[in-house]
Amino acid sequence: MQKDTLVFDLIRKELDRQRNGIELIASENFTSLQVMQAMGTVPTNKYAEGYPGKRYYGGCEVVDEIENIAIDRLKKIFNASWANVQPHSGASANAAVFLAVMKPGEKFLGLDLSMGGHLTHGSPANFSGKTYQALHYGVTKEGIVDYDQLEAKARAEKPKMIICGASAYSRDWDYKRIRAVADEVGAIVFADIAHPAGLIASGLLNDPFDHCHIVSSTTHKTLRGPRGGIITLRHDFENPWGIKDPKGNLRTMSQLLDLAVFPGSQGGPLEHVIAAKAVAFGEILSEDFKAYGKQVIANAQAMAAAFNKRGYQLISNGTDNHLMLIDLRNKNLTGKKAQETLDKAHITLNKNAVPFDDKSPFVTSGIRVGVPAITTRGLKEPHMETVVHLIDRVLMNADDEKEVAAVKGEVSAFMQQFPLYPELG
Ligand SMILES: *Cc1c(COP(=O)(O)O)cnc(C)c1O
Repeated sequence: MQKDTLVFDLIRKELDRQRNGIELIASENFTSLQVMQAMGTVPTNKYAEGYPGKRYYGGCEVVDEIENIAIDRLKKIFNASWANVQPHSGASANAAVFLAVMKPGEKFLGLDLSMGGHLTHGSPANFSGKTYQALHYGVTKEGIVDYDQLEAKARAEKPKMIICGASAYSRDWDYKRIRAVADEVGAIVFADIAHPAGLIASGLLNDPFDHCHIVSSTTHKTLRGPRGGIITLRHDFENPWGIKDPKGNLRTMSQLLDLAVFPGSQGGPLEHVIAAKAVAFGEILSEDFKAYGKQVIANAQAMAAAFNKRGYQLISNGTDNHLMLIDLRNKNLTGKKAQETLDKAHITLNKNAVPFDDKSPFVTSGIRVGVPAITTRGLKEPHMETVVHLIDRVLMNADDEKEVAAVKGEVSAFMQQFPLYPELG
C-alpha cells in the first residue's frame, strides 16, 4: 500500500506548529511519547464490547489485561473503589452519568456556561439541556462560585443532581458545602473535574471524592493522557434514590454507571486508547508527576503576577489552579481580537466569556490562559515573565503587522530551548 503522504505531511506540519508555538489553551497538554505510541497500536483492531471478564466477543484475554491495568492504576491515583475507563471523551463520560441517574425531564443544577461552566452541564445546545431540565448557579461579582445562590436554588427547586466543576474557573471548589445542601434536599453530587484532575491527583487541590457521589474527568487535560474520559467512585453505594436499571432492577451506583457507558451510550471501547490511558496513569503514579503538578501551580502564580503587573484584570484577582481568566475591557480589546492576533504570533489561547459579559460568545470580553502545556515543555517561573511580555507586546500592538510578525519570530526562537518529541526528528 502506498503511504498516504497527503495526510502524513499534514501530521508533520502539525508537529512543527506545536513545536514553534506557545501553547496556552488551558485544556491542552503534551502527552509523553510512550502515551502517544501506545495509541497507535494493534488494540485498535479489537472489538471488546462489555467489560474485562464479561465480553461479548472472543479473543479479549489480552485487552482484558490492558483494561484491568488502566482501572487498577486509576483507582490507585484517586483512592477510588471503582472506575470505568471506557468513555471516549469527557462529554461521553458525562452523558453516561446523566443516563445512569436521571430520567428525561428531571431537574439538575450546574454552573452556567457563561460563568465558566461546560456545555454538558445544561447548555440548551447540548443533550444535557435538551433532555433534562437544567437550572443554573453563577459566580459573584468577584468571580467566585455563588454558593449562596447555589444553596437557595437547591432548596427552592430540589434538583435530582447538582454538578460542580467548570471549564473556565480559576478557583478551587468547596465540595463539602455543596454536599451539605445536597444532603438537605436529597440530591446526588456529581463533580466533573475535567480541568483540575491532574492537580487533584497530586493532592494540590481540595479532594472532591469524599464529598461527591460521582466524579468524572477527561484524561487529556491536566492528567496528560490520551484524549478520553473516565468515571470514578471512591465509595460505591446502594443507591438511596431507588434508581433502577433499564430492566427495573435496583442496582448499586457502580453497576448503573457501567450499564450507562456500555450498552447505554457507547458500543465497543477504544482499547488502544485505554492502553494509552494505562500508560499515562502509570506516569501519574510516579513522583515526577507530583513535581509537574507543583510546577503547574507555581507557573500559574508567576503568570498571574506578571499579568497583574501590566494592569491586566484577572477574574477573581488570581488563580488557585492551572488557568486564569482575563477581562480585556480595560485594555479596549475583545477576546476575539486578542485570540486572532495572538494566533498570528503563534501564541495559542482561546477567547472566553467573562462573568456578566456584555459581548456575544463569538466575540467575548476575555481570554482564558492555561499553563499545563508549557509546563510540560519545561518552562519555569522566570519564563512566565517572558511569555506575558510577548503576549502584552502583541496585544498592545494588535494592528501593527510588523510588530506581530517580529514577536512570532521571537516566539519560535524562544521555544527552541524547550524541545518537543526530539525522538521524532
Ligand atoms: C473539557 C471538558 C469536558 C469535555 O471533554 P471532551 O473530552 O472535550 O468531551 C467536560 N467537562 C468539563 C468541565 C470540561 O472542561
